[in-house]
Amino acid sequence: MSRTPEARAYDLDALRERVLGEGGGTVDDSIPQLAAADPGLCGLALALLDGTVRTSAQADVPFSVQSAVKPFLFALALLDTGGRALDLIGIEPTGESFDAIKLETGTGRPPNPMVNAGALLTAALVDGGDVEGRTARILRGLSAFAGQDLGVDEDVARSEHLLGDRNHALAHLMRAEGTLEVGADDAVAVYAAACAVRVDARALAVMGATLAGGGVNPVSGERVVPAGVARDVVSVMATCGVYDGSGRWMRSVGVPAKSSVSGGIVLSAPGVLGAAVVSPPLDEQGTSVRGRVACEALSADLDLHVFGVR
Ligand code: GLN
Repeated sequence: MSRTPEARAYDLDALRERVLGEGGGTVDDSIPQLAAADPGLCGLALALLDGTVRTSAQADVPFSVQSAVKPFLFALALLDTGGRALDLIGIEPTGESFDAIKLETGTGRPPNPMVNAGALLTAALVDGGDVEGRTARILRGLSAFAGQDLGVDEDVARSEHLLGDRNHALAHLMRAEGTLEVGADDAVAVYAAACAVRVDARALAVMGATLAGGGVNPVSGERVVPAGVARDVVSVMATCGVYDGSGRWMRSVGVPAKSSVSGGIVLSAPGVLGAAVVSPPLDEQGTSVRGRVACEALSADLDLHVFGVR
């Protein structure tokens, strides 16, 4: 693992300075709390599999995890259903935006767990019974991935639940197809709470590292999910994690990742490290503009591209 010493010495504040000048993009305005985000926020963190965590300035600024929660919801659903989630959700990229009102033709299944339809279902498949129970189970699971106690931003959860009309539509569509077994409103409530979990770049990097390390949190030492679950999740991040920008991402960054409308990006470089960036201005696909540039630089500097020949 020759890249570990280089990553341990990597200057994240210098990278932050490099990407801060990157303009463009728009801050998401789907809920008031996201619209109020500081467009100048930029935080970066690296979590190595030996337990070392490196951070830049602003890596401790909290933000709502939003869609960066999707890989972890998928992991928990795989764990709690004993793998049955793989029969209930597709794993093919859609080439469409995250909230497209579309299910798999023929099966009525969500196309993959990284788009909203799939994440609404994974959030419904975890153990816990009712809305409170499933939300608590998700929070416990995410906290294990992060190695610290995480909480829900209740204002954000309320807004997501109230204003997420496309998510309500998707939940009803899945009810009609018979693929969602819990009530549509309950499914949206749990998914909204999961999107509203407060993280910072540091916590998100450790979460990515737990997947990169085959399911073992490198900081706490806890085995959070079996290695096979981590491998399944990272595979789907690679093909579907950046929605209709996944192909371009794979070519230019080459590291499995998940983007989110809060401007957070989580990266899992298998066997090497986890990383996270947050910067709210987004491109057309809902990917952080500075986040993409930072991830491209990180991948090039640390030789992380999974298809790069070393
Ligand atoms: N809360 C957002 C939603 O469902 C999350 C979307 C995202 O981060 N891409 O709609």
